[in-house]
Amino acid sequence: MKMNKRGLLIVISGFSGAGKGTLMKSLTEEYDNYALSISATTRAPRPGETDGKEYFFKTKEEFEAMIANNDLIEYAQYVDNYYGTPKEYVLANLNEGKDVLLEIEIQGALLVKKQFPETVLIFITPPDANELKSRLINRNTEDMDTINKRLNRASEEALGVENYDYIIVNDDIDTCVDEFHELIIAKHDNNIEACNKYCVSNNINIINEIRESLCDFKKGE
Ligand code: 5GP
Repeated sequence: MKMNKRGLLIVISGFSGAGKGTLMKSLTEEYDNYALSISATTRAPRPGETDGKEYFFKTKEEFEAMIANNDLIEYAQYVDNYYGTPKEYVLANLNEGKDVLLEIEIQGALLVKKQFPETVLIFITPPDANELKSRLINRNTEDMDTINKRLNRASEEALGVENYDYIIVNDDIDTCVDEFHELIIAKHDNNIEACNKYCVSNNINIINEIRESLCDFKKGE
């Protein structure tokens, strides 16, 4: 009988506009070891999003019932809405040996790490703050008020990066996908040297520069 090794639980966070969605899509299309968890949310679908694909779209009442039934591994509020990770899919796929990807914000990431200490926490960042702002604006899915709230939230999230294990820069998406996969292979192989390239301590300067620019945006500079 073939015994599957338990998969890795991988949390991906990053500033809104860092390109996490595209990264997740490419990883699951290119490699078959990944299973992408679909979150529940109370936010309205964006044009092109469908229920059960990007998210399970819920009313506030439905979401609160999921919390009460203990159906979620974690949940958090992010810019006026609830977001949470359904438990069943994650546990089933880990048991099947899949590496499960959770694309969630920082409060949720820390809750997952607390429950499952072996979780790999990865922070995805654009190369600089101007790129971050222009990606959010060019995405054309949010009004300026929401973009500003998301930029404010980004500067809060930047303060929590030290809690993560690794940072990957998304400058070019193909390179980002390759680097992500290289890191996960290195984790499976316990290849500490290969993992070190992405360690937070070796990449924190990029985040520090973004932090400073986000503060300047806040001041309106
Ligand atoms: P968006 O509205 O842009 O799709 O997502 C907003 C934020 O919510 C992102 O930072 C995303 O990572 C986070 N998020 C999405 N799903 C979940 C979830 O299940 N739990 C938590 N804690 N955050 C989530």
